[in-house]
Amino acid sequence: MKSILLKNCYCFHYDPEPITSHCNISLVNGKIAGFPKQPNEKDFDQVVDCTGLEAFPGGIDQHVHLSFDFGKAQSCDNFYTGGKAAIAGGTTSVIDFAFLKQDQTALEALQPRIQTAIEQKCPVDFAFHLCVTSADQLEQIDQGSKIEESFKIFMTYKGFAVDSATDLFTVLQRIAQNKKIAMIHCETDQVIAKRVPTAKHISEMPLVRPEWNEIEATARILTLAELCNCSVHIAHVSLADQVELIKVYQQRYNSQQISMEITGHHFVLNNRMYSDYHLKEQLVMSPPLQSENNVDRIRANLKDLDMTCSDHCPFTVQQRNGSFMAGTFDKFEDRAFYQQPHGTNGIQVRFIATYDCLKQFGGSLEEITKRTSQNAADRFNLVGKGRLAVGYDADVVILNPHSETKFCKEMMVENCDTTLFEGKMFRGHIEKVFAKGVEYGQGLPIGKYMRELK
Ligand SMILES: [Zn+2]
Repeated sequence: MKSILLKNCYCFHYDPEPITSHCNISLVNGKIAGFPKQPNEKDFDQVVDCTGLEAFPGGIDQHVHLSFDFGKAQSCDNFYTGGKAAIAGGTTSVIDFAFLKQDQTALEALQPRIQTAIEQKCPVDFAFHLCVTSADQLEQIDQGSKIEESFKIFMTYKGFAVDSATDLFTVLQRIAQNKKIAMIHCETDQVIAKRVPTAKHISEMPLVRPEWNEIEATARILTLAELCNCSVHIAHVSLADQVELIKVYQQRYNSQQISMEITGHHFVLNNRMYSDYHLKEQLVMSPPLQSENNVDRIRANLKDLDMTCSDHCPFTVQQRNGSFMAGTFDKFEDRAFYQQPHGTNGIQVRFIATYDCLKQFGGSLEEITKRTSQNAADRFNLVGKGRLAVGYDADVVILNPHSETKFCKEMMVENCDTTLFEGKMFRGHIEKVFAKGVEYGQGLPIGKYMRELK
């Protein structure tokens, strides 16, 4: 039974009431055992002096795609490499996705994903959103609801999209009956399908997927969700106007039932990269990067968003040049961009990027804790996660607020050959990460599935 004392941390914690103050945290056997006022250091196997440092509960990234098949390519991080990169960046739990194929039960979709994570020795704890692709899978929503908390619905992507208003309403209604959460990718497929054939260059990506397209889809889903009293989580919000719209619904309806997340790349990077960046194939993602003005507005109001995520789904340059969805092109050309697997990296960057942005605009440790970890744990019912509190998992990030972090390819633990965050500077530096009491660099814990299969 290993015991660790984190001495003199400054943090937002529950003792048992919520408080931001200096404290000692004792970790015993993978759990937070207490906040001893006058600990005897001799009682501990390891003592870490955290004077001048801040502590946070391990980050939760509720939107990642590890070992994910996208067309003919598989995202280049599996559960081991992606999970290790997550811990290196302060994230100790993730929620990935299990896609229900037609005629497949919820259990049949979940079991192989759980098995893959276990076989690949995923070091972070994990759960899944179940992706439903048609109203025909209503019975599977009932079955999946006994295990998981949330169902992902795509409003775009041929073959995945639930795009008719009737089908969307039926699916949302069923999710509401089960008292679960609908997580929605909001883009209007008909608009994208019409614009894709005429697009010639990747610089046109923002035109293929215009801002109002995302906003229209968001308004539609919020209206349908309100009509059938369905709890919704809007995935990867990327626009300041979209945030404003969601806030209107949150205020007039029921804020408990509507939540939103943003990816690190959507509040750090902007769409000038479509003309400036040298590896254009690495910019294929949806929603696309948005304007600098939009990014500035989002950053100044990041507190309005409930949580951040990475939507981590990277592909190497080589993969981009050989694994097209439609297989028409041999190597990357601008005009082939829409046939590529979509996605980018960020699992290692999200925590510090969120910290940096909230700090820049005067965010408190409580606000940072909630957006990097606690709100996701509460929203998706991750028991024992998201708080520095007695009995919770010993997932702790120790961060130096007086230092900074500059990302470069060499320090990326993930398995991708490039990072869009190359050269980006962030306030704060993560000094240590404990995942279930195991210090990163000294070993890795064995991640577990955070639900019970019933
Ligand atoms: Zn995603």
